[in-house]
Amino acid sequence: MNNEQLKILVTGGAGFIGSALIRYIIRETKHFVINIDKLSYAGNLESLRDIESSDRYTFKKIDICNASQINVVFKDTEPNIIMHLAAESHVDRSIDGPKDFITTNINGTFTLLEESRSYWLSLAKEKKKRFRFHHISTDEVYGDLKLQKEDLDENSISDYSPSLFTEETPYYPSSPYSASKAASDHLVRAWHKTYELPSIITNCSNNYGPYQFPEKLIPLIILNALNRKSLPIYGSGNQVRDWLYVEDHARALLKVALEGKIGETYNIGGHNEKRNIDVVNSICEILDELIPDGRPHSSLIEHVNDRQGHDERYAIDASKIERELDWRPAETFETGLRKTVLWYLNNTNWISSVYEKDL
Ligand code: NAD
Repeated sequence: MNNEQLKILVTGGAGFIGSALIRYIIRETKHFVINIDKLSYAGNLESLRDIESSDRYTFKKIDICNASQINVVFKDTEPNIIMHLAAESHVDRSIDGPKDFITTNINGTFTLLEESRSYWLSLAKEKKKRFRFHHISTDEVYGDLKLQKEDLDENSISDYSPSLFTEETPYYPSSPYSASKAASDHLVRAWHKTYELPSIITNCSNNYGPYQFPEKLIPLIILNALNRKSLPIYGSGNQVRDWLYVEDHARALLKVALEGKIGETYNIGGHNEKRNIDVVNSICEILDELIPDGRPHSSLIEHVNDRQGHDERYAIDASKIERELDWRPAETFETGLRKTVLWYLNNTNWISSVYEKDL
């Protein structure tokens, strides 16, 4: 499979992770990419500017809930692999208005599964054997892990509960976002078990890096700090997230799509457990060094009311993908964060293109 020139259909390819995946496939492989995306507020074709002229890249503006349009694209492009990333992805938005999350993440995944199944059944033997459906999901489906609160005053995360999310951890989602993603994971497993649709699921920890929409913690903090606006932190800021540089995720995703075992789940993570407050302080320190302006950027930090149902800690055990597929992250949190801050400092055009859209 690795030596062939495959046609990979990516849903949500104008988003943060999808665009990183497409840039990676076009730059580093010989495969073709068909990107289908409805271009919601989070989708931005500017993120694909570097590769859009490639003759191996095609874009189609399509909603994954639209079965007939999906059907036509499948027939016209005959993909070998579906990589499904299209989703509503922001927890705060899911709390304010869960409907779009149910529509896209659950009904959209259902539509895509049904269209994939009928397309897969129509394929000739060899193509049918090769086909796979890769569903991209989150570690938030597992719920949260507890902090050891007595250690928090020590300002240390070294004594946190050692438990991690494994591929066997039961699902216990907290927010409308994670519940809708959990539902979509269940649908994919059911389509594999019931109809034998050749599928694989990956569950990844928090991503960060270039081209991330500035409603998520890291780009929000960078851009607010650059504009000397307050740096909002939910509650104490002690919540722990496990961070992965987006390009490491993109590399893992393609590896799983090409080499992963059908029917399996792979957790993907960066072994980078950090408290939100420490992430924000690290960004401030990098900015103090790169663009000093008299007072520390951390003076802009402002603690705001905590998010409803806020999970305390996520942490991924990524040993299965490391062991079975020989994937490891290339970036540490320190190298990845510095690259990310530098990218936002140097890409004001992309930032303007985002603010021109409806925030
Ligand atoms: P994103 O919000 O940046 O991008 C989502 C993309 O999907 C956008 O381009 C949007 O236009 C598109 N989209 C939304 N609804 C659609 C629909 N109905 N039809 C077609 N396209 C639609 O999200 P992201 O951060 O790139 O996340 C991508 C995937 O990875 C999601 O499934 C998310 O659950 C998962 N994930 C994200 C993270 C993270 O930290 N961002 C971590 C783990 C897993």
